[in-house]
Amino acid sequence: MLADSYGRIIRDLRVSLTDRCNFRCFYCLPNGEPPLARKETILTFEEIVEICEIFVSLGIEKIRLTGGEPLLRKDIEKLVAKIAELKTTNLDEQPKTKKQKPALKDLALTTNGFSLEKRAANLKKAGLDRVTISLDSLKKENFKRMTGVDKLDEVLAAIEAAKRARLEPIRINAVLVRGWNDDEIVGLASFARENALSMRFIEYMPLDSAHEWDKGLVVAGREVYRKINEVFPLKLKETSRGSETAWKYSFADGARGEIGIIAPVTEMFCGACSRIRLTADGQIRTCLFSTGEHNLRDQLRSGASRPEIVDFIKAVVMKKEPRHFINDKNFASASRSMSFIGG
Ligand code: SAM
Ligand code: SF4
Repeated sequence: MLADSYGRIIRDLRVSLTDRCNFRCFYCLPNGEPPLARKETILTFEEIVEICEIFVSLGIEKIRLTGGEPLLRKDIEKLVAKIAELKTTNLDEQPKTKKQKPALKDLALTTNGFSLEKRAANLKKAGLDRVTISLDSLKKENFKRMTGVDKLDEVLAAIEAAKRARLEPIRINAVLVRGWNDDEIVGLASFARENALSMRFIEYMPLDSAHEWDKGLVVAGREVYRKINEVFPLKLKETSRGSETAWKYSFADGARGEIGIIAPVTEMFCGACSRIRLTADGQIRTCLFSTGEHNLRDQLRSGASRPEIVDFIKAVVMKKEPRHFINDKNFASASRSMSFIGG
């Protein structure tokens, strides 16, 4: 099992497949950024699978593929198929003990949805369990203003395709920004009800590549709750929280769909964090807001043995930060922006 120095058990690995993106969300990658310098710096599929396998052997139960835009990575279906093999529980070779080896329980992908419509069925066939699709606005003009692209129809079609392919439960992520889409909170909640979706409202975090984040732009989770609850009364789900980032609510009138509120800025949840991240160039990040990284790629490429890699990972996990420092006076920005880290 992977545990950090504060006793938190790490069960959730986020793997960024690329730092590139075809959207220009203003809260993430507004001007694009020079992509990672050389092709050789990016992990190959073989390396990613090997790393995932090691992490699963250490107790990781959930893997989320993200980016940048993960669907820009060519032949991602092949990678999904390989990682999905880790879901099969292996039995120890000795028949008497029948001790179960750890296995992956959940393989998910976060995408902007741009090219998901035509790929959803094949991703499901390859072994992907579910998707999270980003959708910040249901108004064409505002969607374009926030993401830099005129692709609302494609994203809506992607949601339909994900439903047909049963990549469920489908989650929708909306980053709320004051003055940009805070007037769409109830509209997005209504969309979740009508389409039986799990709608996640996320507070804007200081991870944008333009460094224009400002506390005044953050729409607090409490405000989101209040606005939705006034129109569609909400009921806190019993299964809410734990190591999850979201407070989860159902609709009190029994309508389908779910509301999730993720409030890392105004209601820190670091004490229950079970996540660790791998960047596209093979760096382990112990926190979204880490100011440093740990070079797993070079360990792997220098021919380190499996036990040496395991020791490296365990030592890195022990260095996981106690919490983020967004609200502290001396907050130092993360060493990379969200599109590099993998959200
Ligand atoms: N490109 C994919 C997408 O947009 O879904 C996957 C990568 S994106 C970095 C993952 C998630 O991070 C998205 O849902 C996005 O809205 C969220 N995100 C990006 N920048 C953020 C920020 N500054 N604060 C909060 N969430 C952010
Ligand atoms: Fe691209 Fe996702 Fe960042 Fe938007 S949030 S710029 S889609 S990586």
